[in-house]
Amino acid sequence: MTDIVILGAGYAGLAAATNLAGRVRRRDDVRLTLVNAGDRFTERLRLHSTGAGRPTADLRLSALLAGANVHLEYGWVTAVDADARTVRLDDARDLPFDTLIYALGSAADTASTPGAAEHAYTFDDFRGAEALATRLDRGTVVVCGSGLTGVEAATEIAERHPDLAVHLVGRDAPGAFMTAGARDHLRAALDRLGVRVRTAEIRKVLPGAVELTDSRLEADVVVWTAGTRVPPLAAAAGLTVDGRGRIVTDPSLRSVSHPHVYAVGDAAAVRQGFGTLHGTCQSGMPTGVHAAASIVRELDGRQPRPFRFGYYHRPVSLGRGDAVVQFTRPDDSPRRAYLTGRAAVWYKETVTASPWPTYARMLKLPALASWWPRGGRYTR
Ligand SMILES: Cc1cc2nc3c(=O)[nH]c(=O)nc-3n(C[C@H](O)[C@H](O)[C@H](O)COP(=O)(O)OP(=O)(O)OC[C@H]3O[C@@H](n4cnc5c(N)ncnc54)[C@H](O)[C@@H]3O)c2cc1C
Repeated sequence: MTDIVILGAGYAGLAAATNLAGRVRRRDDVRLTLVNAGDRFTERLRLHSTGAGRPTADLRLSALLAGANVHLEYGWVTAVDADARTVRLDDARDLPFDTLIYALGSAADTASTPGAAEHAYTFDDFRGAEALATRLDRGTVVVCGSGLTGVEAATEIAERHPDLAVHLVGRDAPGAFMTAGARDHLRAALDRLGVRVRTAEIRKVLPGAVELTDSRLEADVVVWTAGTRVPPLAAAAGLTVDGRGRIVTDPSLRSVSHPHVYAVGDAAAVRQGFGTLHGTCQSGMPTGVHAAASIVRELDGRQPRPFRFGYYHRPVSLGRGDAVVQFTRPDDSPRRAYLTGRAAVWYKETVTASPWPTYARMLKLPALASWWPRGGRYTR
């Protein structure tokens, strides 16, 4: 019997678990255990909507996996012993494994800027997002971080709460990575919704204010979306990690120091020909599926194949009624093509809604999920 333990039921971990369950459903020599903090699937792609006060579906892992050959284990992982091959949970239980899939994801980086952890809301889980929603009754909201999550949060909050003053502050101008047309559309949406944009370095978050390099913004509520970090668990386990704490993987997504550990999603430093993948659901789900397929190859005595992936889009919602989708080259640089308005809203919603039904499909038809853009010459 081979014990395979998957840590984290986010976008990548659930892709790995459902795909693997589908692939081994007729075998009796494999036991699958999925460990997650709770039963509710954290739909991170919608947490800015939750934070703005929109109800979000209550998707349950137990319902998805009812009848499937996956044992669900609820608990908070406090340690991994990669050499002894055990995982420790917060109730002091130890789970043994032969093969581990590490998919514990990432969280907002509130550690690099003083005061962010104490005084800002994040979109790491439902609790934080729902707590933010209860605070949006009046005053000024400052969204820190002008990346996609910051833009999505600022526009959604401004649209749903037109009486609030909403500021978006970050080092780069919003939409900096886009082509001029897409960026102009994004900026026009921010203007239309009354979001005040400031390009500045954030020094500190204080109770009731955000300190910038050259000034100070008074704030009733601060939302933090500037950068991500990964939990220190992987480094503490003795796994080789990069400068940001992500597990360094070989071409097949196995840890370079502990090949019986696969790393997927935001928690992994996955190298491609053009550089290291940055955390997205777009790349995270394929890493989970690839790990599942590789493990089955190894169980059958074959070598896993190298993972290849190329980006294809960056969809950004701009409130509920508008969006912009920048199509990209495999290395994530912008192509000329982009979508705006209704077509982009439809595209973005289709992408956001697709993971959950995909997991259910993978339990039955795992091989179908092995399609994603491989990146062509960018990843050869
Ligand atoms: C508001 C927002 C919007 C986004 N929009 C997009 C988008 O449009 N497109 C896109 O591609 N990406 C988007 N992203 C990024 C995307 O959400 C992440 O890249 C993706 O969630 C990574 O998947 P993952 O499985 O690696 O980690 P996660 O989805 O974070 O899952 C990690 C799981 O592990 C669990 N966990 C963590 N630590 C422990 C522990 N110690 N013990 C037990 N369980 C634990 C968590 O509860 C969670 O279930 C967005 C992110 C945010 C915050």
